Amino acid sequence: MNLEELIEKVASGEIKLYQVEKYTNGDKKLATEIRRKALEKKFGIKLENIGHYSIDPNQVIGKNIENMIGVVQIPMGVAGPLKINGEYAKGEFYIPLATTEGALVASVNRGCSALTAAGGVYTTIIDDKMTRAPLLKCPDARRAREVAKWVEENIDYLQREAVSKVTRHGKLKGVRAYIVGNNLYLRFEFETGDAMGMNMVTIASEEIMKVIEKKFSDVRYLALSGNLCVDKKPSAINFINGRGKTVIAEAIIPREIIEKKLKTTPELIAEVNYRKNLIGSAQAGSYGFNAHFGNIIGAIFLATGQDEAQITEGSHGITLAEVTENGDLYISITMPSLEIGTVGGGTRVPTQREALQIMGVAGGGNPPGANAKKFAEIVAGAVLAGELSLLAAIAAKHLAKAHKELGR
Ligand code: NAP
Repeated sequence: MNLEELIEKVASGEIKLYQVEKYTNGDKKLATEIRRKALEKKFGIKLENIGHYSIDPNQVIGKNIENMIGVVQIPMGVAGPLKINGEYAKGEFYIPLATTEGALVASVNRGCSALTAAGGVYTTIIDDKMTRAPLLKCPDARRAREVAKWVEENIDYLQREAVSKVTRHGKLKGVRAYIVGNNLYLRFEFETGDAMGMNMVTIASEEIMKVIEKKFSDVRYLALSGNLCVDKKPSAINFINGRGKTVIAEAIIPREIIEKKLKTTPELIAEVNYRKNLIGSAQAGSYGFNAHFGNIIGAIFLATGQDEAQITEGSHGITLAEVTENGDLYISITMPSLEIGTVGGGTRVPTQREALQIMGVAGGGNPPGANAKKFAEIVAGAVLAGELSLLAAIAAKHLAKAHKELGR
């Protein structure tokens, strides 16, 4: 079959989109071209921009994408420098942001400038765990309680007999059990090194389930995720107990910097934060007691190959702002569920890897886990910059003006 015939058959549906590689001797780049040309033919359109890319389809098909036809391009800007006084991130950093929202990069950049002039951001990771919560069906609640007790008392055994057989970096740290009727949900907590860890902990949880089913023959595991993990959905459990990195970024910004660079006052920023981010969010029943964590998280996740669906959990969190005894501004952000990695998933796609390199966090850290923690501190710093800048713009009533100038 020649190329034209192949395109025709894909366009007509005689050859399915996922079957094309069979006809290209495994050449995934050629298969990508054929699928795209078949769509062009079917719909009488030109997909020349989707077809313009440097990523090698042979590297990503089967790992990151199926039925590939090309790429979508999102403009990427950079904000910084941002001075971070972290435990892992120390120094000045530039933050890559992929977005189509005009004014976002400029806004984060302005926050970085004010924070760096104030001496930088202090970052603290207070927890680090990836969770998976398989669902077990038990005969009744008492049996569920017995199983939960055994699991809680045998974490080291499960690490040895199950987890260590399928991963080097995944370490079972603990479990929290939830029982509803005869259903047992075991919310396992793992260390995952520099990986965000979802694949790792899913594979490890399946091994644990095999051990439990062997030990308790009257118990059946029904789902590897019982939805108490909670992955890619807004939830109180992640807001309260955390998932991924739980990280805090803080700064004290002298009054002169607020007045000169941000054209407002510490008092007005604190008042806007209280009435908008705290009271307004409480009235809305929101998990986002913040101005726009999701904007910064979203743009960094897209730039660096994070799982974009986890922007949901990344947007949970609280911004605090108060006037200090000296009349300066204390501002902080607390992010309970920042699920990020510097190895695995989309981080190995060449463009995304380059974006991680801008911050010096591509690949595995030394010791393992150090790169992901450094990255978490940089993300938290960038989120603080975004919160400061937007709160100041609202306080100074500059928001609409900036959007008119930059976003239209
Ligand atoms: P992964 O690429 O599946 O696992 C990380 C790999 O990197 C492992 O093979 C690990 O080896 C290795 N590794 C090498 N150096 C490492 C280091 N320093 N630290 C940690 N690992 C290191 O990635 P993942 O983070 O577990 O999963 C991310 C992917 O899962 C994303 O593509 C995401 O979209 C997807 N996802 C999956 C699910 C699911 O339910 N399966 C849910 C949501 C998202 P060892 O394991 O031997 O340590």
